[in-house]
Amino acid sequence: MAVASLTELRMLIGGKWVESVSGAWTDVRSPATGQVVGRVPKGTAADVDRAVAAARASFADARWRGQWLPMRYAVLNRLADLIERDLDQLVALEVAQTGTAIKFRSSNDIPFAPDNLRQMAAAARHLDGKAAAEYSTDHTSMIRREPVGVAGQIAPWNYPLMMAIWKIGPALAAGNSVVLKPASMTPLTTLKLGELAMEAGLPPGVLNIVTGPGDEVGAAIAGHMDIDIVSLTGDSATGVRIQELAARNLKRVHLELGGKAPFIVFADADLEAAARGAVAAGFINAGQDCTAATRIYVQRPVYEEYLALLSGFTEQIRVGDPSDPSTDLGTLISGTQVARVEGFVNRALAAGARLVTGGARAVVNGLPDGAFFQPTVLADVAQDSECVQQEIFGPVLTVLPFDTEEEAIAKGNDTRYGLSASVWTRDVFVGMRAAKQLDFGTVWINDHLPLSSDTPHGGFKQSGFGKDMSAYSFDEYTRIKHVMVEITGATAKGWHHQIWGDPPEG
Ligand code: NAD
Repeated sequence: MAVASLTELRMLIGGKWVESVSGAWTDVRSPATGQVVGRVPKGTAADVDRAVAAARASFADARWRGQWLPMRYAVLNRLADLIERDLDQLVALEVAQTGTAIKFRSSNDIPFAPDNLRQMAAAARHLDGKAAAEYSTDHTSMIRREPVGVAGQIAPWNYPLMMAIWKIGPALAAGNSVVLKPASMTPLTTLKLGELAMEAGLPPGVLNIVTGPGDEVGAAIAGHMDIDIVSLTGDSATGVRIQELAARNLKRVHLELGGKAPFIVFADADLEAAARGAVAAGFINAGQDCTAATRIYVQRPVYEEYLALLSGFTEQIRVGDPSDPSTDLGTLISGTQVARVEGFVNRALAAGARLVTGGARAVVNGLPDGAFFQPTVLADVAQDSECVQQEIFGPVLTVLPFDTEEEAIAKGNDTRYGLSASVWTRDVFVGMRAAKQLDFGTVWINDHLPLSSDTPHGGFKQSGFGKDMSAYSFDEYTRIKHVMVEITGATAKGWHHQIWGDPPEG
C-alpha cells in the first residue's frame, strides 16, 4: 500500500490538537491488508462538550461570521488550493483507510472536493431573499440571511473527505461555526483537512473535529443543547435516531440518508449505453454509494439481450490491490461489510434468483485478508425481496423485467428510499413523464450519477431532506430574518384602533 507509515492524528478543538479526555485511542485499519494504518483519539461526549464550547465562543465573538465576506471567501478558496497541493497525500490516505481503488479516488471525489468548496464560497456571496420589496404602503421590508449558529455535522465512511467538504462548505461559507465528526473507520483525511483549514487561516474554534464512535460522539452532537443544526449523511436508521435526539432542543435537522436507485431501461434505449451506464453507476466505489444504480428494470423484449451486455461489461472489471493504478474495484469498507453483502447474495440465490455473474468473495493475490467481493449481477429477483427493498451497499446489481411504462414507474417508486433514479429511452415523452412521476430527489435521463457543485443533491422519503451542494445548501445553514421599517414617521398608526380607541376620522 502507498501509506507505509502509521498516521497518528489528534482531534481539533479550539484550534488545538488534543487527545480525548478519556485518553483512549482507536486504530484505523486498511480493509485491503488488515494492517493498522492510523490511530486517532476515541472521543467521548465530554469531548463534544469541549468542541461545542469552542465553536460557540467563536460564533459569539464573531471572529469568523463577522469577517468581511471577501476574507471568508479567500480563506475557503485557500483551503481548496491546499487540498489540491496535498492531493496525492489525501488520495493515499483515503485509499489506505477505505480500500477504494486509487484510480477512482485520484480522479473522482478527492479532486472534485476543491471545486465543491469553491462553489460554496462563491455562492455565499450571492445569498438572496425574496421579501426585499415593500409589502405595506407604510413600511419597507428587507431580508437578512444569517448563519444559524453552531452546526454539528456527522459524516459517513464512503467518501470521507468529500462528505466532510459537503458539510463544512456551506456551513462555513455562511458564517457558522462547526463541530464535525467523521465516521469511526475513516477519520484520517478529515483530520488532515482540519490541518489544512488551520493553514488556510480559519480562526481557531470555527472548525472543530471530534473523532469517536457514532453512538457516543454522534449521539452527543445530535442531542446537544447548544448546537443549532445537526446534519447527518448516513444510514436511514441513524437518521431516525438523530432526529429523535435533535428534538431535545428543537434544533434544525438535515439528513442525507440511504438510497436504492432504480435504473429503468426501455426497449427503445441505446442498450449498450444503458449497460455501460449501469456498470459504472452500479459498481462505483464498490457499490458503496447512496446514488448507485442498484435496481435495474428492463423492458421484457430486450431483457435477455441487455443481461448479456451487462454481464459482459461486468466481467471486464478488474478487482485488485487498491493501490495498483490498473485496479478498477478495490475492497469494501470492512470484512463485516463483505459478510453482509454475501448474506444478501446467498439469501437471494436460495430464494430463486438467477446468478448472472459474480456472487462470491474475490481473492486477490498477496492480499489474503482483503475485504474483496466480486462484482455481481442477480436476475429474476422478486420486487418484494430484501435485495430489492434494502440497501445492500456493495457491488451487487439486481435486474428485473417489466412490461409497461406504468409498471416500471410503479416498481421504481416501490421503495422507502427517494434519493435518485434514472430512465433510459429515446422517447422524449416517456423520459419526461418518468422524470415527473419518479419520486426521487434526482432523476437522470440517459445517464446515472453525474453531479456538479452547482446542482442540488438530496433525497425524498426515507432518504432524508435538505440539499447538499448548489445554492440550495444554504437554506440549511442560514436563517431568514425579516426586518420591517416604518417609513411614514406617523405617531398614531392607522391600525391602532383595532386594539384601542376609535378609528381615525374619514
Ligand atoms: P452510518 O449511519 O452507520 O454512519 C454515519 C455516521 O453516523 C458515522 O459518522 C457514524 O459514526 C454516525 N453514527 C452512527 N450511529 C450513530 C448514532 N446512534 N447517533 C449519532 N451518530 C451515529 O452510515 P455509514 O455506514 O457510515 O454510511 C453509509 C450510509 O450512508 C448508507 O446508508 C448510505 O446510503 C448513506 N449515504 C448517504 C449519502 C447521501 O447523500 N444521501 C451519501 C453517502 C452515504
